[in-house]
Amino acid sequence: MSSAISNTYSRLPVAFTHGKGVWLWDAEGRRYLDGLAGIGVSCLGHGHPKLVAAISEQAARVIHTSNIYEVPQQEALAERICAISGMTEILFGNSGAEANEAAIKLARYYGHKKGNEMPHIITMESSWHGRTLGTLAATDSEKARKGFGPLPEGFIKVAYNNLQAIKDAGDKESRVVAVLLEVLQGEGGIRPSDIAYLKALRALCDERGWLLMIDEVQSGIGRTGKWLAHQWADILPDVVVFAKGLGGGVPIGAIGARGPAANVLGPGSHGTTFGGGPLVCAAGLAVFRAMEEEKLLENAATVGAHLKSSLEKELKGTPGVVEVRGQGLMLGIELEKPCGELVMQALDAGLLINVTRDRVVRLLPPLILSKEEADQIVSILVPLIKAFNAK
Ligand SMILES: *Cc1c(COP(=O)(O)O)cnc(C)c1O
Repeated sequence: MSSAISNTYSRLPVAFTHGKGVWLWDAEGRRYLDGLAGIGVSCLGHGHPKLVAAISEQAARVIHTSNIYEVPQQEALAERICAISGMTEILFGNSGAEANEAAIKLARYYGHKKGNEMPHIITMESSWHGRTLGTLAATDSEKARKGFGPLPEGFIKVAYNNLQAIKDAGDKESRVVAVLLEVLQGEGGIRPSDIAYLKALRALCDERGWLLMIDEVQSGIGRTGKWLAHQWADILPDVVVFAKGLGGGVPIGAIGARGPAANVLGPGSHGTTFGGGPLVCAAGLAVFRAMEEEKLLENAATVGAHLKSSLEKELKGTPGVVEVRGQGLMLGIELEKPCGELVMQALDAGLLINVTRDRVVRLLPPLILSKEEADQIVSILVPLIKAFNAK
């Protein structure tokens, strides 16, 4: 289709007119099971009455005022985020990249305040933190970085889930101020890190005076069955990065800070025109309300475990299937061959999925997914994967 839109996405040939629960409809009235939730965003599914009401009511009152004034919805949402994360202060933005950018700026400011003029941040292989220049420099994707140099300096990339690699990097570079990582990598192929590694990393950061900054943009807000994926390791980071599911579909991002990371950024040091506005914060508050009232953490944990074990059972012994990975409703199926064509085949069969890192089928369905709907995902996806691998 010729279009006035910048050609930065090769889009699938479908547009959705409306949705309800985990289902989306196109203009021809075809129904699709949403196994991706707009890349982990629509955690309450589509047309959730509590979210729709909150957004409509807030839109009718006031949509935008700016951070020049007090924003009570922002205060209330910040309190909710602190309560679930153990952070003590929240800074809002509009996206995952923008939030990660704020975390990077916070770490650098922290370094400068201690007299470190060239603060370095350790990041991980196969990480994803966004597409701004700073977050691209922190991200490990040659494809995403190609053609955009020069990128900001001050990032050291190390092997993921490998404590020694972090120690070695810190021994070599004395100006390290922070470690930034996803504890369950999303774009990187649904790659989990070990609980022992995360506990040891927390201790290492304490020992060396580094900030531990965890990017929960994809894995947070209940996706893995706890509010935040790092809570499975029972650790408390210094900075947590939020976005995607936080607004249930409206654009919002945030960082939380505590301990040594709290009170680092002061008045005038960072800002945003749109960030934390009344409309998106009202949406965020509705997400928290629905998550609690409808016990969606428990749902993500139990339905996610059911979905994972069903996929494992049905795909067991299938040639070409490497592994089913992930936790809660953040799951990946790694195949031996690049499998991008499965996305279109699934779409034709009425299921929305995604493939990341060429060979990993990714599922991020809404957290309201029922067991029956999980079974429907399995019954559509498994035959497609078997037929693909049999070719
Ligand atoms: C999606 C994602 C981002 C970037 O978020 P945007 O809203 O696309 O800028 C950052 N970190 C992680 C872990 C993500 O999954």
